[in-house]
Amino acid sequence: MRGGITDLRSKDGVNAMGAKQKLLEVRHLQTQFRTEHGLVKSVDDVSFRIDAGEVLGIVGESGCGKSVTSYSIMGLIEAPGEVAGGEIWLEDRELTKLSRKQLRKIQGKEMAMIFQEPLTSLNPLLTVGLQISEVLSRHKKLSKREVKEQSIEMLRQVGIPRPEKIYHSFPHELSGGMRQRVMIAIALSCGPKLLIADEPTTALDVTIQAQILKLMKELRDNLNTSIMLITHDLGVVAEMADRVIVMYAGQIVEEGNVYDIYRTPKHPYTKGLMNSTPKLHDDKNTLESIPGTVPPLSNMPSGCRFHPRCPLAHDQCAKEAPALEKLKSGAQVRCWLHQEGEVDLHEEFKRRRTAIGG
Ligand code: SF4
Repeated sequence: MRGGITDLRSKDGVNAMGAKQKLLEVRHLQTQFRTEHGLVKSVDDVSFRIDAGEVLGIVGESGCGKSVTSYSIMGLIEAPGEVAGGEIWLEDRELTKLSRKQLRKIQGKEMAMIFQEPLTSLNPLLTVGLQISEVLSRHKKLSKREVKEQSIEMLRQVGIPRPEKIYHSFPHELSGGMRQRVMIAIALSCGPKLLIADEPTTALDVTIQAQILKLMKELRDNLNTSIMLITHDLGVVAEMADRVIVMYAGQIVEEGNVYDIYRTPKHPYTKGLMNSTPKLHDDKNTLESIPGTVPPLSNMPSGCRFHPRCPLAHDQCAKEAPALEKLKSGAQVRCWLHQEGEVDLHEEFKRRRTAIGG
């Protein structure tokens, strides 16, 4: 099939030595906002990479810096916000050094983003067809007829029934699930190497959610698209991600492969997130919420930013901030308990309860 998702670019994401190719590398990213409460660091020294064809899940509660990280990568931070430090590399280009014009050439073509609420990113005054066509004509040398054909083909490929009709529809005439598919079709129309999906299924019902996730998986499998999946839904991450980053209060607190994070979370915050997520085979339905809320970024607690909510906090935690440490397993964690190596959080919790006679 010509011009569809499976025909947009090569699947090759592996170099001649068989190693995964790095697609995106974020180094020491700092993004801040000037507010009436002073300077607020929404993203504070965040570093990570995504390989070609990899799905990286970024999880954490609202206000932890997940979306600001993705907006920084896409070059969408506007005043009073700014990327104040660090580097963002897409292959061999450093994005923070590019002009707006240079960045616009990359946006949509090499990296694209889908948002939680498609209505905010779709233009209500333009038909669906015109919105896909606009992206295609901006980045590809195609005749008018080819642009129209490819737009309809993209709608078909994201599972939209009767795409020739929907091509002429306005966003408000479509259901939430259909709008989300249209936004995905627009995002994928030029076969981006990197797709950033910010809570892509939160506003959708379970059936549509499953269809959208399946669609994203197909993209990765067929096109080797790298996906940065931002969500607070750990179930979605378990289904999709290869690796997971857990963010809290503007920083990475844990990073590891998806199996290890689920089996043996290392950071008490990650464990708290796990305990507050429903599990398929948990007959007792023992959900526990994390006490308290994410601190306002304008008023960070001293020491470890999680200490006011942490069941394992000890004296040192309120005084000194732990660094993000690499463990032998390759995982990274920001917690004093792990500075000497890996600790079983469950055992540690039991030990402390016993020590205080709890
Ligand atoms: Fe909890 Fe202390 Fe670890 Fe922070 S450093 S997560 S407060 S145990």
